[in-house]
Amino acid sequence: MDELRDLYQEIILDHNKNPQNFHKLVDADFTLEGFNPLCGDHYTFYLKLDGETIEDIGFEGSGCAISKASASLMSSILKGKRKEEAEHLFSLFTDIVTGKIDPAEHIEELGKLAAFAGVADFPVRVKCATLPWHTMHGALQGKQDNITTE
Ligand code: ZN
Repeated sequence: MDELRDLYQEIILDHNKNPQNFHKLVDADFTLEGFNPLCGDHYTFYLKLDGETIEDIGFEGSGCAISKASASLMSSILKGKRKEEAEHLFSLFTDIVTGKIDPAEHIEELGKLAAFAGVADFPVRVKCATLPWHTMHGALQGKQDNITTE
């Protein structure tokens, strides 16, 4: 697990400093805001679909390093994925950060997402890590109301 912890720190620092897809999509099919009042994380996510595939994804907003790194990593991983793959990764990611499953058993599927397994040790940060995923999930479900973790 030490390796995962190092990877976690590296990914958080890297994505926080240089967030991927950190911009608005003017031609988004879905736009949804996500808010975590406990920490103050607040982002808007933009999704553009091509049929069942996520063609493009972007986000704007601000929040702590964990939420921003999670949003950045999620956006780079989901680009080009099918909706059903995105929903599958959403549930896998949620199970990892809440400690429900052992990341070691899903390492290949998780890729860099496995780094967030370390969040399971910090329950107060779980919502920071999952906020982007819940918002993306809500957008794919066609939700119009903003997503809040509370
Ligand atoms: Zn946060």
